[in-house]
Amino acid sequence: MSNTTGTLPTQLFDSGGRIIPLSSVNQYLYCPRRAGLIHIEGVFADNQHTVLGSQLHDQADISGYETVRGVTLLRALPVWSARLGLSGKCDIVERHPDGALVPVEFKKGRRRKFDNDDAQLCAQALCLEEMFGLEVASGAIFHAKSRRRREVHFTRELRHLTEQAIQAMHQLIEAETVPRAVHKPQCSECSLFEICLPKITSSPPMLAQVGRAVFDTGG
Ligand code: SF4
Repeated sequence: MSNTTGTLPTQLFDSGGRIIPLSSVNQYLYCPRRAGLIHIEGVFADNQHTVLGSQLHDQADISGYETVRGVTLLRALPVWSARLGLSGKCDIVERHPDGALVPVEFKKGRRRKFDNDDAQLCAQALCLEEMFGLEVASGAIFHAKSRRRREVHFTRELRHLTEQAIQAMHQLIEAETVPRAVHKPQCSECSLFEICLPKITSSPPMLAQVGRAVFDTGG
């Protein structure tokens, strides 16, 4: 594999033989507590955002392939990385006439950039690179609401962010400890808001106050 686009040398870390889902990389970068609640506590809840996202992926989750203007579109392609302890599916992988592979991920919203979405796509590229022994230089996110495609280049920085998140996710599961809440703007769109209660659980004094109220029997 060439290093012309500044890819990092492959870094091995001990995943303990554990395989984590590709989507957990996105969840970890969105919020480590959310990733912990889902993958350690086994908690999940839907809201309008997760339901729309699931519907979109259900449509994309029919495996097969077709060729459009010389580009082969591989749908719902399973991918994995033994090096990173990672597995999942790509919504679409384009195979271009020059042999280049381009992963494409569907997202429900308007065209806008989120590092967590870019890292999830980059994790797919890392899997493809390991599986096929070639460099995957870029991918794309297709934003369903605006029906616009956004190119994502797998820069050295994005690869670093992605590998750090994968490693942190493995460490989180290994530690079996759900991180404390940090109340932040993303909480308003999080489907676990009512379970997490970030306004309370992010504040030790408020948590203690609630604890006293719950366990004070008045005796
Ligand atoms: S409500 Fe906020 S702190 Fe809690 S899991 Fe969701 S994003 Fe994280």
